[in-house]
This record gives sequence, structure tokens and C-alpha cells, in this order.
Amino acid sequence: MESRAINFGAGPSALPTSVLQEVTKGLLNFNGTGIGIAEISHRSKEFTTYLQGVEHNIRKLLDVQPTHSILFTQGGGSTQFSAVVLNMLARHRLLHPELKDEDRVLDYVVTGSWSKKAAEEARRMGGSVNIAADSRKSSKDKKAFDNIPTADAYSFSKDPALIYYCANETVDGVEFSPDETSPASFPFHLLPKDALLPLVGDHSSSFMSRPIPHLSDHAIIYAGAQKNLGPAGLTILIVRNDCIVDVDAAARLGAIPVPICLSYKTLADHNSLYNTPPVLSIYVTGLVLEHMVQLGGLDYYAGLTNRKAKKIYDALKDGETKGVFKSKVKEGSGSQMNVVFDVLGEGMLGKFIAGAEERAMKGLKGHRSVGGVRVSIYNAVTEQETDQLIAYMEQFAERHEAHKE
Ligand code: PMP
Repeated sequence: MESRAINFGAGPSALPTSVLQEVTKGLLNFNGTGIGIAEISHRSKEFTTYLQGVEHNIRKLLDVQPTHSILFTQGGGSTQFSAVVLNMLARHRLLHPELKDEDRVLDYVVTGSWSKKAAEEARRMGGSVNIAADSRKSSKDKKAFDNIPTADAYSFSKDPALIYYCANETVDGVEFSPDETSPASFPFHLLPKDALLPLVGDHSSSFMSRPIPHLSDHAIIYAGAQKNLGPAGLTILIVRNDCIVDVDAAARLGAIPVPICLSYKTLADHNSLYNTPPVLSIYVTGLVLEHMVQLGGLDYYAGLTNRKAKKIYDALKDGETKGVFKSKVKEGSGSQMNVVFDVLGEGMLGKFIAGAEERAMKGLKGHRSVGGVRVSIYNAVTEQETDQLIAYMEQFAERHEAHKE
């Protein structure tokens, strides 16, 4: 146990130690069955009961109403880039069979690398994509995802098949949330007041770190488990019931046929057990959710995340005034989960990372496409561990400012 490092990785990321200890027991003997969790049938009574408990805790923690179904699948966020397009195009076809294909528009808000990828996939699948906003347009070099578009930058289509955004882009460290009190807010006021808004949110990067504002206004919210909840392999979907449609009926009207395991109807009709689910990942996720409920739910984690993020941003600011660090995103657009910054000066980034490794702090190297440092402070990274990083940042800034003089 003493040899565990502090893991600031962006995903897969840290999980609570007490949960991991519990997992080792379940690997040998799942809930008194005498069979390990990786060995038991997914159709056993014990496992199906467990799965219902996982759903129950997600509903409870996020306050998901019966208007929405919770579905479990595989394939990660990247598979949902395609699945949301196919399911929402099928829905649109059933709602408006008379429309020409080019008039079935998919609106994408592009604020970082993941939403950019999602929009590219929609286009690949033959969708008629409208970029409703692109934050690169307001960056200095017109290339960086370093800001959130202002309200006047949006142009939404009339009656699109979907409106897509990505909350809190991990790679770029840009915060973007449907929270209207935040400066980095999704512009809900610009959308039509429609009870069946086709709003799709990729919440992979901040899922279960805080409540999701306007959750009930969403058609689909999805996230991989591997940030706050468990091992990779499990993808969680929250789908409004009117978006679970008969994709085969839509295909008969000309919609793109939907692969059986990507159809939300398949998942819903079989209680997410059409095929073998990622049993181990579901097990760990279930234990983490229990742990979260016990500690006080999402309000507890939202408070914890705020405190951790504020302290890191303060240390970053201090390092900026010393000319040692430089934030990668504009003030007010910074993410609470993933703080990204540069270490200024030749070779200084390597020095910073090496010094962190010596202190058993890992996973700080920025994404390969963005560089610099990326600090991910998912739920299981404790405040005390965050304080150790901050002490190191302060020490580093102090030392290297002095060298300049
Ligand atoms: N969306 C976001 C916001 C992400 O952060 C990630 C992964 N880090 C993905 C999508 C892709 O997820 P996956 O690797 O599970 O396909």
C-alpha cells in the first residue's frame, strides 16, 4: 500500500483505495456466492440485483426522473459519437418522415478536441452537420480551444435532429457546463422552450463530480465510467424515453440502419443485458457509487472539487506572476476537473514532471496533442494529495523565479 503513487491522470484515473480493497474480495467471492465477480453469470439473480442497485444509486445521486432511462453499454464515449447520431437521426426520421436528408441537421457546439471529434464522426456518418459555435474563432491564433463562446457566437438550426455539446473538455482543460450561474455556461436561453429538446451532452469528463444542471432538459447524457467511477469498459447513458425509438421502423422509412448493440431500444428492452456487459467494471462502479452515497453524494464532491480546483488555480496564478507557469486557457474558461498549464522556459516542463515523479506524483504530463501539464483531480484524488501537489508547485515557482534574477 505504501507504494501507491498519487495519480493525477486524466482517465483511467484514481479510484478510492478502500473500494479497491473491497474489489479484491469480490474478485474471489462476489456477495457470498462463492464465485468471483469476473466469473459469475451476468444473468444470475445476484448480478441482476446488483445492476439494479447501480442504477438506483445513479438515479439517486443525479436525481434522474422516470422520464429518463439509465442504460449501460460498452464502447466508451467514442462509440457514443456514432450512436447518438444514429439514434437521433432515426428519431427525427420517425418524427418528420417527409424531410429530405440534407434538411436533417445536426447542430454541434465545438469547444475542444472531443466535441470536434464528435462532429467529425457525425459528418463521417453522412449527417448534415451545422457547427453551431466554434470556440477557436475567438482565440487569438484562431486555432486554440482556450475559451467558451459568448452567447452572440451561436447559430442554432431550426428543429435539428440533435444539439450536441461536450461538458468540460478533458484534453484542453476548458470548462463548459449547462450551469447558467457559471460564466462557462451552455446558452440555454437561446434554445427553443421545447419539452422534447434534442440536447445531447457528453459528460465523460466530469460525470459524478457534481450535479448536472438542467439534466431533465437533456435528450441524452453519456459518460464513460473511467474517470470518477470505475475501470474502463462501462459506458453510462441517461436517455429521455422519447429518444428510445424503433430504429428498424425508421430504417424502413430510409434512416441509416442502426447496429443492434448501438440501438438504445435494444439496450432498454433487455435491461442493458442484450449481450454480456462489462461485469467487473459495473461491480467496481457500484462500489464507488455506494462509497459516494455514504460520503454525502454529489454536493459533497462538488464542494471538494471546488476547494481542490481553487487551490490549484491559486498556485498557478502565483506561478504566473513569478513567470514560471502559464495557464493554457483564458481566465474564466478553466476546468474544475482538469487544470492545464505550461511550464515556461527551455526544458522546464521536463524538470517539473521529473520532480513530481520523484515525489510519487504521476499522470501530470499533458495530452499528446496539447502538451504542457494536465492535472486531473477526479473524485478519488484527496484534498491532502492535492495539497502535496500545490506545495510542490509553490516550491518549484519559488526556486525558478529566483534563478531568473
Ligand atoms: N469525451 C470526453 C469528454 C472524454 O474525456 C473522453 C476520454 N477521455 C472521450 C469522450 C472518449 O472516451 P473513450 O476513450 O471512453 O472512448
